[in-house]
Amino acid sequence: MKHARNLHQGSYPIEELVQSYPVLQQYVVIKPDGGKTIDFARPDAVKALNAALLAHYYKINFWDIPAGYLCPPIPGRADYVHYLADLLAQDNQASVTTAKSIKGLDIGTGANLIYPIIANRSYGWQMVGTDIDKVSIQSANTIIDANPVLAGKVSVRQQTHKKRIFAGVVKPDEHFAFCMCNPPFHQSAEQAKAGSARKTNNLAKNKLKRGSGVVAPLPKKQLNFAGQSNELWCEGGELQFIKQMINESREYANQIGWFTSLVSKKENLKQLYKCLQQQGITQVKTIDMAQGQKVSRFVAWRF
Ligand code: SAH
Repeated sequence: MKHARNLHQGSYPIEELVQSYPVLQQYVVIKPDGGKTIDFARPDAVKALNAALLAHYYKINFWDIPAGYLCPPIPGRADYVHYLADLLAQDNQASVTTAKSIKGLDIGTGANLIYPIIANRSYGWQMVGTDIDKVSIQSANTIIDANPVLAGKVSVRQQTHKKRIFAGVVKPDEHFAFCMCNPPFHQSAEQAKAGSARKTNNLAKNKLKRGSGVVAPLPKKQLNFAGQSNELWCEGGELQFIKQMINESREYANQIGWFTSLVSKKENLKQLYKCLQQQGITQVKTIDMAQGQKVSRFVAWRF
C-alpha cells in the first residue's frame, strides 16, 4: 500500500496520461486482458511515462534527463515526500504540511530533480537540491527554467566537495525544516554496472510489470558508463554516505530540523543506529514505506 495521499494508486490511467502528454501514445501497448500499459523494458518508454505523470499530476510541462542518468519511479519517490509531510506534521498542526514557509533540502537531487518537484508541487515547500555532478545540476536548472511554476521555489546548488554533505551548500544562518536524500547506492562503479545490468535484464523479463527505476538509454558509443557513475555509486556505498551525513549533522543541528535519508538496504540500519548512538543522537525514527512487495524505509533524526 502506498501512502494515502500518494496520487499514484493502482494502475496508471494511460488514456488520461496520453491526453496530458501525447508523446506517450507511441509507447502504449495492449495487455493480454485488453488494458493499456507501456513497455517498461524500454527506457525511452519509461522516460515518456515519467514526463506524462509529471505533466498530468504536477503540471510540469517540461521534464527531461540526459542519456545515462537515473529515470526515477515516481510513485515510490512520492511516498518519501508524503511520509516526510507526516513527520513534519507531528510536531506542529496538521496544516504544516502545506505551509509555504517550509524549506527543504534534497541532498543528491540528480539530473531528474524528482524530490524538489514532487515536494513543491504537492505541498508548496521551497526546495533546494544539491549535487556534485555538473551535468545533473545543468539538467535540474533546465527543468526549473522551463517550468514557471517552479520559479523562485526550487533551486539547485553544486556541492564541490565530493565527500561533504552540508558544508558549502548550506549557507550560514539558513534554516531548513528538513533534509532528504536518496544516497548513491553501490560501493563501486563496477558494482553499479553489474547492478544496473541485472535490473535491465529483470525488467526485460518482466516486460509488462509496473516499472522500477531504469537508466535512460546511452548512445552506443557512450556505453563506458561515464555519465551515470556519480549517480549510482560512492566509496562505501549508501552506508558510508549516510554515516558521513550523521557525522556532519551535529554541526548543522540549529539549521536543519529533521535529518532524513532513504536506506535501501535494511541490513544497514543496525550500523546506522550505532553511528547515531555514537554521536549521542537520541531522537531517531525509522519510517517504513511499502510499495507492492517492495518495502523501503527512511531513517530520521534530530537534535
Ligand atoms: N535524487 C535522485 C538521484 C539520486 S542518485 C533520485 O532519487 O532519483 C544520488 C545522487 O547523489 C547522484 O546524483 C550523485 O551525483 C549525488 N551525490 C553523490 N555525492 C554527493 C554529495 N556529496 N553531495 C550531493 N550529492 C551527491
